[in-house]
Amino acid sequence: MRQQSIRVLVADDEHTARLLMAAALEKSGCEVVLAADGAEALQRFGEQPCNLVMLDVEMPGLDGFETCARLRRKIGDELPIVMVTGMDDVASVERAFETGATDFISKPINWALIGHRVFYLIRAYENLQKLHQAQSVAHLGSWHLDVQSNRLDWSRETYRMFDIPEGTPLTYETFLGLVHPDDVAKLDEAWQAALRGEPYSFEHRILVGGEVRWVHEQAELSFDAHGKLCAGIGTVQDITSRKEAEKHVYRLAYFDPLTGLPNRLSFTERLIREIQRARNHHDKLAILFLDLDRFKTVNDTLGHGAGDLLLQIVADRLRQAVRPADLVARADCPDEEIDLARLGGDEFTLLLPHLRYGENALAVAQRIHELMHRPFILEGREMIVTASIGIAIYPDDGEDAASLLKHADTAMYHAKDLGRDNAQFYSAALTEEAMRRLDMESSLRLALERDEFFLAYQPQFDLASGRIRSLEALIRWKHPQRGLVQPLDFIPLAEENGLIVPIGAWVLRTACRDALRWQAGGQPLRVAVNLSAVQFRDPDLVGEIAAILRETGLPAEYLELEVTESALMEDSATTLQTLNALRGMGLQLSLDDFGTGYSSLSYLQRLPLNNLKVDQSFVRGLPDHQENLAIVRTIVGLAKNLGFTVTAEGIETREQAMLLHGMACEMLQGYYFSRPVAPAEIDALLAQDWTAAVPATSTTGGEQG
Ligand code: C2E
Ligand code: MG
Ligand code: MG
Repeated sequence: MRQQSIRVLVADDEHTARLLMAAALEKSGCEVVLAADGAEALQRFGEQPCNLVMLDVEMPGLDGFETCARLRRKIGDELPIVMVTGMDDVASVERAFETGATDFISKPINWALIGHRVFYLIRAYENLQKLHQAQSVAHLGSWHLDVQSNRLDWSRETYRMFDIPEGTPLTYETFLGLVHPDDVAKLDEAWQAALRGEPYSFEHRILVGGEVRWVHEQAELSFDAHGKLCAGIGTVQDITSRKEAEKHVYRLAYFDPLTGLPNRLSFTERLIREIQRARNHHDKLAILFLDLDRFKTVNDTLGHGAGDLLLQIVADRLRQAVRPADLVARADCPDEEIDLARLGGDEFTLLLPHLRYGENALAVAQRIHELMHRPFILEGREMIVTASIGIAIYPDDGEDAASLLKHADTAMYHAKDLGRDNAQFYSAALTEEAMRRLDMESSLRLALERDEFFLAYQPQFDLASGRIRSLEALIRWKHPQRGLVQPLDFIPLAEENGLIVPIGAWVLRTACRDALRWQAGGQPLRVAVNLSAVQFRDPDLVGEIAAILRETGLPAEYLELEVTESALMEDSATTLQTLNALRGMGLQLSLDDFGTGYSSLSYLQRLPLNNLKVDQSFVRGLPDHQENLAIVRTIVGLAKNLGFTVTAEGIETREQAMLLHGMACEMLQGYYFSRPVAPAEIDALLAQDWTAAVPATSTTGGEQG
């Protein structure tokens, strides 16, 4: 039995009952305060706080229930209040519970046990108080959810944590309304998982009076026999200070305090992850290793304070250099993902994931050099600071983080050896290739305005009339340093950076003007213009072509467009729409390089094309090459079957011309007739007598060779 004195308030209107109760409790060591009715009970309690209150249900004036309810309002719901009811008085027991009584005793009372009953109740009350204390110390609240009534009960600490007056009625929705909006979806996910039987343990943010706090929740759910949720019980712990400490530790561990940039550890971890990802996706990535030139001199002459300041300015410029808006947008290099870090000292690194071409890394390096060339103002003095950059590419220059970093470092020293203020790849061949492509790209951007393109025309020989009927326009680039550049050496680049669209428009316009000139000279020649897949995807294509025809005045039937299978394969719905629009305008449509793609014949049949051009790779080696011979025969046969006319490309010999003529091709094109020539030479070609070039043959004659 406990030693500490316990005071019990006993309220009963019956004198004997009061005295008996007092005697029994005093015998157990309790101090007893007596009241003859409810009003007196409230008054006594006010004078002398008690550990437990025992109320007779039936009393004149304030009865036991009313007294209980008033006490609860005054002291909260924890102090044990015991109702003394008549035997089997179930209605009173229920009412007692509703008014907030802790327990009940029914008459007749077992006087020998009453003391124990009181001690048990008080111990439970004290335990509850200890629990609340512990919860408050641990910032730990608890809750209970009853699904049927959708009632959510919170402990005192939970109310405190959410800053809601204790006792406010709650539902699950009330709780959701307090969760940080960005965490609601994740919370719901965790809850759904818990409903499937997974443990519920989850950290999320809540909003308390506009302030963000972190809580950790754990719960156990109970289900009925049908597996339906009936109740849940859980804890909520305020972990805001732990989160803040973690954030602080994280910053210390992963960031450089001087510049605020990620540090070596954070960079290496990211690099390892990115290498893993690149390996899985067969991707490339680049790391740039930057070291300031002569930083030591700054430190030695101006002091470390100035050195630190310089590093901060450099960090800002680097941040600016990798800002997406400041870089030329490239489809293959999502620049916002470039990761910048300070390894230590005057060494910085950049990571470029998803790299397709080495020159993209070089472009970033050049951008950095440009920004670094702006003068630095340090302690009122203007100074020039340059940097040397080494570049290593995964997987070419190393397959793991350590060797990539080492090789980028080596490349950086190489850049220093070459006179500082430049960038070098680890592999010299890459530097050269990237320089060349980058240079090519920048001069390609200027080529249009500098008027460096021109068109060569290659005649297409019409077998039925024995004359030249059309000319294929083939672009050439007169590069100021490199001389003549062939289309295969710059068209792919122009397709990558989108320049093909304005270049293509120039080709169309020029070809239409030339055609019109020949018409004016009495030669109704058709021009065939090649369209790249990129141009074909351009939603403005149809409108642009219509505008060019209008502007030049060339009748549409004199313009032929050559498209490749790859352009037509992309999206059949819009492809068909575009082709129909072009045909509707009266243009001729040819499928170029036929036989090299993989289009199904049934697909091709649905396209509104006029003509197929047998790719020159099949004509090559004819007539001796048996395999090609069989292929060409099949292709021509199929094309005729589908109702297309056929042009054979790459005719270099008389034998080839005869052979294809024999297969009933309509048009022939190739060096045998003429190489692509300047427009000025076309008149001479037209004037030539072609009758002997391809003697009329019987339809089978040519196939013998
Ligand atoms: P293509 O459309 O298949 O053009 C035919 C290519 O074959 C031309 O090369 C032509 O010079 C070459 N050729 C013609 N006859 C013979 C022959 O008998 N033997 C051999 N070995 N070759 C022959 P070119 O001018 O170098 O053009 C290459 C490709 O570049 C073209 O292939 C076309 O796909 C593309 N291209 C050319 N100009 C343009 C243009 O203005 N726009 C677009 N998008 N692409 C163009
Ligand atoms: Mg072509
Ligand atoms: Mg071709």
